[in-house]
Amino acid sequence: SEVVAWREFDRQVWKLYTADLESGLHYLLRVELAAHRSLAGAELKTLKDFVTVLAKLLPSRPPVRKLLETLREWLASLPLDRIPYRAVLDLVNNKMRISGIFLTSHIKWIGCQGSRPELRGYTCSLWQLFHILTVEAGMHPEALADTGLGDAPQAVLQAIRGYVRTFFGCRECGEHFEEMARESMAAVETPDQAVLWLWRKHNLVNSRLAGQLSEDPKFPKVPWPTPDLCPACHEETNGLDSWDEGQVLLFLRRHYCAGNLVHTGAA
Ligand code: FAD
Repeated sequence: SEVVAWREFDRQVWKLYTADLESGLHYLLRVELAAHRSLAGAELKTLKDFVTVLAKLLPSRPPVRKLLETLREWLASLPLDRIPYRAVLDLVNNKMRISGIFLTSHIKWIGCQGSRPELRGYTCSLWQLFHILTVEAGMHPEALADTGLGDAPQAVLQAIRGYVRTFFGCRECGEHFEEMARESMAAVETPDQAVLWLWRKHNLVNSRLAGQLSEDPKFPKVPWPTPDLCPACHEETNGLDSWDEGQVLLFLRRHYCAGNLVHTGAA
């Protein structure tokens, strides 16, 4: 396979990059979904719900925002219960030539770059997307009001859960995530709890994967945020390291908000 050398970007671990998010969206819409030749019934509904959450909540540059909104409207207005994936792809590629729509088909990882090409990348960007969605839902509680998706904190998590279970290419990951969702997702009642639920589960995944082959030695799997990123998030109780969840929430809101996104295109 092609060997891609480690590229030294001017990258900061406390920032997010649109190049990662747009590369991730490209992969999701043009590669991952393409494994489904046609979409129908519950699968189609899962896609609609996830695209609705993306269109309403993801802070993105205007051409991407317009693409997501057009895709959402098109899926919502479909009179059919089965569509070929090809039709989704045509829209993503803007075959209709609607002005102002564009999503790169070029992958460029910055914050999600792995030290080897098979490490990090897409799955990293997917986690980032998910965290951003939960944080934005808390900041814009009215954003999903007219979508029929129901209560915002549950709607966002359930849309993520549906996507992972139905479409995420790593089946084993999907099964693990579904297990965690079945156990405790229903107990989430507020936007803040949704943000913290996803953070907690992501740390569980990190600890399960620590030391495995999929771990990038340059990005060790450790409880996150580390003390250097957020000293206030950590406290010591009886000599043991524990979390100050109030501080973690503040940190997550800062880290995963639109204002922390650096606009660097993937194209
Ligand atoms: P990632 O874990 O991908 O995290 C991306 C970035 O998010 C990090 O660089 C960091 O900045 C930030 N971050 C880290 N921890 C947290 C946290 N707790 N809360 C908020 N932000 C955080 N791989 C497997 O091999 N087996 C699995 O079962 C598996 N399950 C997965 C389930 C899901 C839903 C997803 C999206 C991915 C899963 N993966 C699994 C992939 C794996 O979690 C990593 O994405 C991959 O190993 C790349 O790791 P990374 O170093 O880029 O960091």
